[in-house]
Amino acid sequence: MGATLKDASVDLAGLDAGGQWLKAVLDAQSDALVSAGTLQAPLVITCGCEGHGPTDPHTLGHALDVRTDDLTPAQIRAVYVALVEALGRQFTVLWEVAPGATVPPELADLAYVGPVTAPHLHLQVRKGHTFDPAQP
Ligand SMILES: [Zn+2]
Repeated sequence: MGATLKDASVDLAGLDAGGQWLKAVLDAQSDALVSAGTLQAPLVITCGCEGHGPTDPHTLGHALDVRTDDLTPAQIRAVYVALVEALGRQFTVLWEVAPGATVPPELADLAYVGPVTAPHLHLQVRKGHTFDPAQP
């Protein structure tokens, strides 16, 4: 079934080749983590191509956000590790938290402080890189 969407505001129509690859990997990892019992429910995409400035990777079609505030620290780490491994070096995976947010100690090494409203995983094609499906 893959990852689900937060609601109808999530725009995936503008995903480019890298964004579509990202979505496919996210769907597969969500299914695998649910099958393994690591997650009780599919991952939820909270943002696609909408809501960002003109040069943002979201707007350009190669970034997705995934909800983590309904996950335990162990689940967040499991999802993070699975996505880093499955996406490989053409992509960046960040667990973004707001400045001053309370971060569980076991996730302190993952936390990337940014101008966000809620903690989430931000996934994008690596900055400055053009996605190439022929690369590993
Ligand atoms: Zn994002």
